[in-house]
Amino acid sequence: MKDVVIIGAGPGGFTSAIYAVRSGLDCVVLERRAPGGQVLDTDWIENYPGFPGGINGAELMGRFEKHARDLGVTIENDEVYEIKRQEGSFVLRTRKGEIETKTVILATGTGPRPLGVDGEERLRGKGVSYCAVCDGFFFRGQEVAVVGGGDAAVEEAHFLTRFCSKIYLIHRRDQLRAVGSLQRRAFDNPKIEVLWDTVVTEIHGENSVEKLTLKNTRTGTPGKLKVSGVFIYVGLVPNSYLYKGLVDLDERGFVKTNVEMATSVPGLFAVGDVRVTPLRQVVTAVADGAVAAITAEKYITGG
Ligand code: NAP
Repeated sequence: MKDVVIIGAGPGGFTSAIYAVRSGLDCVVLERRAPGGQVLDTDWIENYPGFPGGINGAELMGRFEKHARDLGVTIENDEVYEIKRQEGSFVLRTRKGEIETKTVILATGTGPRPLGVDGEERLRGKGVSYCAVCDGFFFRGQEVAVVGGGDAAVEEAHFLTRFCSKIYLIHRRDQLRAVGSLQRRAFDNPKIEVLWDTVVTEIHGENSVEKLTLKNTRTGTPGKLKVSGVFIYVGLVPNSYLYKGLVDLDERGFVKTNVEMATSVPGLFAVGDVRVTPLRQVVTAVADGAVAAITAEKYITGG
């Protein structure tokens, strides 16, 4: 039986594992995709302490992974299908079999929230994208739109200026939600034009994105915008469908924890973006991971 199984190899999962092995716990990290999580899709991280000038997301996660592996952490490519509670332990049913463990740390993060407009699903991968770092290159010299006004939308709009001739940043209000430093960078970039008080109501195109139908949120006036790509950054949805009925979630599906990262189920902990938290950043996921591993150790040893 394992001491701790960590589901998800993002910043929170890696840090949980680093603290768990250093506490002498027998642990494994399960990751269904590539180790690194959503940070892999972030080109440049400028607010993680210790890296003045910033660091590429994939490089930072490579360092986290090396750190964990050097300490003896096992990272398995596997997907969890079910978490079963039993007396004093949990059994995880996974793609590769079953794992029994004393504790579980949920570090499954979030995914992009779809906009929910006509054409979005049909043209997904054909001009509709949720990842500028993955797809931006395909839009060299072209005009694209970015939807949203948060950190992700503004940061990725800026990233797209490397390839695209023009980026329309479409935001539903007259003020961006993103932090001031990102806002200034967008306003200073001549390739970015912000379309204020505007929403996308439909995405059109035969085989790929050709244009958007827009609506002014103040006046209701409709409009059209010709673009060959649309990058959607309108928030996050938690990867928590597995935990429904198992632990307490908030109304949006984020996992509720206390300050020690304990969920409503003894022995089950949650860290990073998937939990209810006022700030979703690499630095907060890392802090959560450290706290969860130490709490898991106390739970196991009865300390
Ligand atoms: P977010 O902060 O929730 O922002 C979502 C944006 O989408 C908001 O501007 C929102 O408008 C808009 N929006 C939501 N639903 C919409 C709809 N149906 N139609 C049009 N617009 C809609 O999400 P995020 O930018 O993905 O960031 C998520 C978390 O990750 C945040 O905690 C953020 O700080 C963090 N993050 C940080 C960095 C960084 O530090 N560099 C980078 C990326 C993400 P309103 O403003 O009107 O609500």
